[in-house]
Amino acid sequence: MAFGLTQAFRTFGKLTLDFRTFGKLTLAGTIGASLVAGDVGAQQKTPSPGSAKAIFGAEKLPTQGPAQPIGFYAKGCMTGAEALPADGPTWQAMRLSRNRRWGNPVMISLLEKFSQDARARIGWPGILVGDIAQPRGGPMFNGHASHQIGLDADVWFTPMPSQRLSYEQREDLPFTTMLQKDKFLTVDPKVWSEQRAELLMLAASYPQVERIFVNPAIKKKMCDTWTGDRTNLAKLRPEYGHDSHFHIRIKCPPGAKGCTGQAPVAAGDGCDKSLAWWFTKEPWAAPKPSTKPPKPPREVMVSDLPKACSAVVDAPSIASTEAGTYGGPSAASALTAAPAAAPPVDTGSALPSVGPVPNDKPMVQ
Ligand SMILES: [Zn+2]
Repeated sequence: MAFGLTQAFRTFGKLTLDFRTFGKLTLAGTIGASLVAGDVGAQQKTPSPGSAKAIFGAEKLPTQGPAQPIGFYAKGCMTGAEALPADGPTWQAMRLSRNRRWGNPVMISLLEKFSQDARARIGWPGILVGDIAQPRGGPMFNGHASHQIGLDADVWFTPMPSQRLSYEQREDLPFTTMLQKDKFLTVDPKVWSEQRAELLMLAASYPQVERIFVNPAIKKKMCDTWTGDRTNLAKLRPEYGHDSHFHIRIKCPPGAKGCTGQAPVAAGDGCDKSLAWWFTKEPWAAPKPSTKPPKPPREVMVSDLPKACSAVVDAPSIASTEAGTYGGPSAASALTAAPAAAPPVDTGSALPSVGPVPNDKPMVQ
């Protein structure tokens, strides 16, 4: 059904919302652009010593041995991770100081292939890769609920610039939102492009890819405008944030016994009431005021994760980041060893346009 969303709005009955009821558009814009922001960026107070976030966040290198995702995307860890090289012909890894370019080798090879296909098939110059996972996975002290078992990766909607970005530029390059700032949940036609739509559908085309999280406005745009094969459109899942990057999630690799999979997406293109819900008040409503002060949530401990994750914490490391870089040590970039080693780059007009830095909003699926 090519234009199912319109129908979904009609059939949504009472929950259907006239956007005018949101009041001033500026308010709607605020809701759309900041609340909706990415699954990166928000800072949380430092995790307590001994918490899973503190322990996994302190791991500098992956374990030795075969790659195994352990547990679920949002509750687990991993062994035998490999790093995406900081640079490749068709990609650059961003925010290197976070040390989150580790993943299951299936994920890393998929990212490399996707970047090559993107250039060859749709003329996308290359991808900027955000967070994948920590060296041993596990929960992160900021930014994500998932990304814990090496099977999730964030890719920017900003194309790779022609020059190699310096270490500092990779830290500081702002995110560019695809949303219009003065409208509620609306893709900015000045920023969005057919090529970005093709990029998403290319990512969704790989059989290993289980879901791709995008902002609800982007999903709606795809529902309204994608005229090609819609078989994989269901893999694009609306989610808070994800307006300046999209999030690729792959299935548990074959034979990964300790990996807990997720139910496949429902049949159809997903341009239905599950999407229409995002355009109601409900997902954006402020929490009800309470007379009692809210209890801070209990921190996740290693013992809350799958049992095998305790052994992952104590397991011996590989020798170095270079030794764990996908494609062999020669693929490891000098950028990762020392920021000062980054070559000077032209900081001129070739840099992509800038936008607001997203805030955090936890993933709900
Ligand atoms: Zn993500």
